[in-house]
Amino acid sequence: MKTDILIIGAGPVGMALARALGGNRDAPSPFRITLIDRQPHGAWVKDPRALALAHGSRQLLERLDAWNASAATPIRTIHVSQRGGFGRTLIDARDYAIPALGYVLRYRDLADALDIGLVSETLLSSSVVETIETCATHATATIAGPNGKERITAKLVVHAEGTPADDPNITVRDYGQHAIVCEVTPDTPHSHQAWERFTPDGPLALLPLEKGYAVVFTVPPAKAREILALDDAAFLAVLNRQFSGQLRLTATGPRASFPLALRLRKQLTEPRQVWLGNTAQTLHPVSGQGFNLGLRDAWELAETLLAHGGDDPGHTEPLAAYARRRQTDRLGSAAFTHGIVHLFSNDIPPLNAVRGLGLLALDLVPPLRHFIARRMIWGARAWP
Ligand SMILES: Cc1cc2nc3c(=O)[nH]c(=O)nc-3n(C[C@H](O)[C@H](O)[C@H](O)COP(=O)(O)OP(=O)(O)OC[C@H]3O[C@@H](n4cnc5c(N)ncnc54)[C@H](O)[C@@H]3O)c2cc1C
Repeated sequence: MKTDILIIGAGPVGMALARALGGNRDAPSPFRITLIDRQPHGAWVKDPRALALAHGSRQLLERLDAWNASAATPIRTIHVSQRGGFGRTLIDARDYAIPALGYVLRYRDLADALDIGLVSETLLSSSVVETIETCATHATATIAGPNGKERITAKLVVHAEGTPADDPNITVRDYGQHAIVCEVTPDTPHSHQAWERFTPDGPLALLPLEKGYAVVFTVPPAKAREILALDDAAFLAVLNRQFSGQLRLTATGPRASFPLALRLRKQLTEPRQVWLGNTAQTLHPVSGQGFNLGLRDAWELAETLLAHGGDDPGHTEPLAAYARRRQTDRLGSAAFTHGIVHLFSNDIPPLNAVRGLGLLALDLVPPLRHFIARRMIWGARAWP
């Protein structure tokens, strides 16, 4: 089989790229695209994550005709504070003349929206790539799928397989934290306010989702195991203690956990291959940057390849241009999340005071607050 672009990984980033490259009635795509995933089609329904999407991501998804408005809960304010310390700040959408700072969406609803309209011949499910060989003009991948083995030649192979395994091309910084995720119900309406609470164990986020909250609670691995083993009442008591009476959670859904590490790929491209989304950079979930960044990767790669018209998409020049264009955003986002985790995930008294002052400064000095807010709304650069 021959294709122009073979995308490995039909997660939200791989699907977003396929859509962005896919063209429409007015301007058909110059490329033949094949998307493959090792899981059966629709397996994302089991993913327990909810994602906070920036306002800028909503705009990109709208352009891809993949904005799932009915499944998205707007975030109008974000309350940032630390447990056991002073200082707090409030980021408010009204200060930025936008309807919401961001939106919370279940991973599965995002994937459903991206999947609609992806033509079925484009997608090979339950298939894995066993080998990839490259030469000057193309790449050849050996695929093992439901119908046995198949060879696909492509001008470009795009890696969007999600969090990568250890590899000499990847720098890994283990956070010594796991994220526990679940959905909870509060005793009063959330009024579209998200909470980012820094605790000595790690950040805790409550993201408004429908009438409840999606929880991302980061704690050391041993504590994560203990917390996962608690019954619901004891788990809710642990969560409620983190908020020192500022809000009360009364019911919880099932819990799952994810180990957390920063994984940064050193080179985004090799001859006839490019990496994007989590496989290029996997970040800590604090402040919800990961998918937002991956979506911008997909958008910029599509823009760069389409700008070269129907020319060879695996040509070195557009790939090098893409890698250059993504550096500031990806390294800036990694530094931002990494910095926050390190500054806030400890209980050293002098640092407590510094953090309190930092939060107070954010509250009192609008330009600082705007810097943080803009990063959450748009990423590292302004998007139209
Ligand atoms: C607890 C937690 C909370 C998060 N919260 C947020 C948030 O609020 N906001 C945000 O923007 N981001 C958030 N993220 C990050 C976000 O989940 C990721 O950035 C996003 O899922 C990356 O999408 P992706 O398509 O690159 O990878 P994935 O979602 O991992 O998808 C990869 C796809 O590739 C397939 N695949 C894997 N290996 C192969 C293979 N060898 N061959 C074929 N297919 C393969 C998989 O089956 C999967 O379908 C969070 C992450 C975690 C862990």
